[in-house]
Amino acid sequence: MALKPIKAGTRLTGRVVVPGSPSYRAARMEYNRRISKFPRVIVFCRRTQDVINAVKWARERGVRLRVRSGRHSYEGFSTINGGIVIDVSAMNKVKVDRKNRVAHVQTGNPLARVYRKLWDKGVALPAGTAPDVGVAGLTLGGGIGLLSRKYGLTCDNLKQVKMVVASGRYGAKTIIANKKKNSDLFWASRGGGGGSFGIATRYTFRVRPIRTVSIYSITWKWRDLEKVFPAWQRWAPSVTNRLTSTIEVAAKQVGTIVSTGQLLGGAEELRRLIRPLLQVGTPVKVMVRTVPFIEATQFFAAGDLNLEPKFKITGAFGYKSLPPEGVRMIRDFLSKAPNKHATVWCQSLGGAGSAVSRVSPTATAYPHRKAETIYELSARWRNDKEQQRNIQWVKRFRKALRPYVVGDYVNFPDLGIKNWPKSYYGVNFARLKRVKQKYDPLNVFRFAQSIPVGKQVKQRFRSN
Ligand SMILES: Cc1cc2nc3c(=O)[nH]c(=O)nc-3n(C[C@H](O)[C@H](O)[C@H](O)COP(=O)(O)OP(=O)(O)OC[C@H]3O[C@@H](n4cnc5c(N)ncnc54)[C@H](O)[C@@H]3O)c2cc1C
Repeated sequence: MALKPIKAGTRLTGRVVVPGSPSYRAARMEYNRRISKFPRVIVFCRRTQDVINAVKWARERGVRLRVRSGRHSYEGFSTINGGIVIDVSAMNKVKVDRKNRVAHVQTGNPLARVYRKLWDKGVALPAGTAPDVGVAGLTLGGGIGLLSRKYGLTCDNLKQVKMVVASGRYGAKTIIANKKKNSDLFWASRGGGGGSFGIATRYTFRVRPIRTVSIYSITWKWRDLEKVFPAWQRWAPSVTNRLTSTIEVAAKQVGTIVSTGQLLGGAEELRRLIRPLLQVGTPVKVMVRTVPFIEATQFFAAGDLNLEPKFKITGAFGYKSLPPEGVRMIRDFLSKAPNKHATVWCQSLGGAGSAVSRVSPTATAYPHRKAETIYELSARWRNDKEQQRNIQWVKRFRKALRPYVVGDYVNFPDLGIKNWPKSYYGVNFARLKRVKQKYDPLNVFRFAQSIPVGKQVKQRFRSN
């Protein structure tokens, strides 16, 4: 519902960037350079009060707003044409209470900084791989990574969130959500996705002591695809939950299949555990070593560096192994990939005592608890003239794999998915709508795939 703007009162505080400011060009950029939007103002908040002021400022003037942290939204949901971007990236304190095994993490932190600050105190949080992904968006959507099978999703380790929500007709206020207080919002903040309810400013996480881990990488040539992919699918959910692994099939032009993984344990044990994989096809490169945990995070981060700047990605979950026809589909599509940067990447999530699947699909807003695997189909490019070809390829590939996979991960959003509420949230969508109605009935926090208010699902915006 659009409210009539009142005579403006609140002023923006924090670092304010507007078109014409020397830093506007850098400040408006999203990580995915396919997205190019021109906000009317970007405010870099330094304190919670700056966030409150920004929400009030926007509401008093009837200016649309977006919330931003690490800027990694695949579809650019953290920016907007003509509106205000409320950016929390300057709010990046981390405080570790080692005795009680908790960490207070401001939501502007990128993952590399969270890993480093926790490592300095000998603890870790299960989170994602890319160093500059924001802990804000990652946590609200779930948060998968190389500690998932042992310690769960990032959101499973969330104990409390501090959030700025809309209040009354034009206001904003801070609230706390945890198991006891605002427990419905706390439920929604664990898998309901970013940007729909308010602006998270601080998380309290459970953290785990950590020292060394063992990591592996095995490379095969493409000719082994039909042997290696099914073998990884059988093996990955069957091994100890202390081992989380991935497999990535590159485009035919590159011609490789690479599996990597991380074990909470020693190199000897890891060598033994990966034996079934080493016996398949002809591995051309094998690495196994024990490293300090912080080095392992850098090893996995390397895969997310130096990628082409523009991309289209879609995701899916594998509740069952891909049958031979599905593997053939991967071969077919990657044989005709638009360029050498296209890939299919999978990570193991479920199986043998996995902490992800031990949680019920309705205990948090993240519903895909019983999936064994997560898939990511991606195409990347540099020149705009390649864009349509790449996007169409991802779209066709998604469609072709549909018979064998389910839904999508809200942190891998795709505007091409028609029934996105079911894909991202499954049975939890109805409850998410009730939470939305309670905390943001005037739909202040909205974008193309935000949780809708009332019966409205399809939302049209003039500039999003
Ligand atoms: C290279 C790359 C690697 C990735 N690797 C992983 C991975 O290993 N594991 C994984 O699970 N995911 C991964 N992702 C996906 C990632 O989790 C999502 O893109 C996530 O939403 C990014 O959060 P952000 O804060 O960086 O992005 P933003 O674009 O800033 O925000 C993403 C969404 O959250 C909202 N949001 C941002 N800040 C806040 C806030 N403070 N309060 C409320 N809402 C907010 C935004 O409005 C937007 O809707 C990866 C993405 C990329 C591009």
